[in-house]
Amino acid sequence: MTPGPAPASSVTAARDALVGVYSPEDVLFVEGRGTVLVDEEGTECLDFTSGIGACALGHDAPVVREAVEVGLDAGLVHTSNLFRTEPAETLARILVDAAFDGEGGAFFCNSGAEANEAAFKFARRWARASGGEAKHEIVALRGSFHGRLFASLAATDRPEYRAPFEPLVPGIRFAGVEDEASVDAVVSGERTAAVIAEPVQGEGGIRPLSGGFLSFLRARCDAAGAALIFDEVQCGMGRTGELFAHRASGVEPDILTLAKPLAGGLPMGAAVAAPDVAAAVRPGDHATTFGGGPLVAGVAKAVVRRISDPGFLSAVREKGSRVRAALRRWEEERDAVRAVRGRGLMWGIEIDGDAREVVARAFDAGLLVLTAGAEVVRLLPPLTVGDDELDRGLEILEGVLP
Ligand SMILES: *Cc1c(COP(=O)(O)O)cnc(C)c1O
Repeated sequence: MTPGPAPASSVTAARDALVGVYSPEDVLFVEGRGTVLVDEEGTECLDFTSGIGACALGHDAPVVREAVEVGLDAGLVHTSNLFRTEPAETLARILVDAAFDGEGGAFFCNSGAEANEAAFKFARRWARASGGEAKHEIVALRGSFHGRLFASLAATDRPEYRAPFEPLVPGIRFAGVEDEASVDAVVSGERTAAVIAEPVQGEGGIRPLSGGFLSFLRARCDAAGAALIFDEVQCGMGRTGELFAHRASGVEPDILTLAKPLAGGLPMGAAVAAPDVAAAVRPGDHATTFGGGPLVAGVAKAVVRRISDPGFLSAVREKGSRVRAALRRWEEERDAVRAVRGRGLMWGIEIDGDAREVVARAFDAGLLVLTAGAEVVRLLPPLTVGDDELDRGLEILEGVLP
């Protein structure tokens, strides 16, 4: 078995200077290569977290490196949105073509939470223009995670994240997943501006929503004159083996939010809107200083082109079947494995026990994995992970499961 990573040594004293919102593992990674992270002592860890899905092409991906170099050679890191730059416009064109057959518009920001905040503002703008002043409510789902800013947190179903910071943004209501009656009870033609859903809930435990439920949400939004927002910050951009996770259902949103993998590990988010919604947004309605800067947008352009490649996506689906086969076997053979859920290279293993303990034991054995709630171990390997790496990681994980 791989020896585990070493406790951090070189900058231990500086740790206190960070606000204590995180409790990171005591390891300092100094180098990344594909699916591997290397610590100070040269110990290699297999990374099935890929920066919480952000480094979808792996660490030190040639596509990312080359695009960064092109951007740096041009000397244009940032100009602000006071001026036009090519990478943001080309990237917007690529995303609007992919998501909405060429009609609509993209707004660029710097994170997933910001993408959802933009989506909420655009949805309210659009819904009020067509349906009157009262149309402002956002309906979110139980088990959701949409970010940590005030409106995205208000739409996030995690009491422990919310309680210390209340009051949050008002006008957000919750409905149950796969629970049509509870959706009907809160979606209103008079008041609802938008319904937001993750086609595959990530932080909530890797829970794919059924195609039937997504089409029900689509129909309910159409009837109520509300925008359907798909938050694909975690499940989008090839993670499920389709460019967008909702493609598996055939249900199309009015706004699609993206972030984590969009710029290959550099910070970037996007809210991509269908034509009606995009047309309702006016100059000055929203803005962010860094949004769509030429360096990150140039990288995202390269990343999106790479991930959109049909051969790349079918390789993700094949690797996904490999993971599925192993996990299904565990589900059958091991009493402590209650359920396994996922698609492509996004998987959750629900166990009888504390998922954090499994993550810690895997870490000690040189495999980095995540939790998704208290009882779910989450796998988000880079989409470029090799078959041998997958097999090795799964073998380590099987050895540390309860
Ligand atoms: C991570 C995540 C977010 C928030 O993204 P940040 O970049 O951390 O703000 C929003 N929605 C989903 C589904 C996520 O997984």
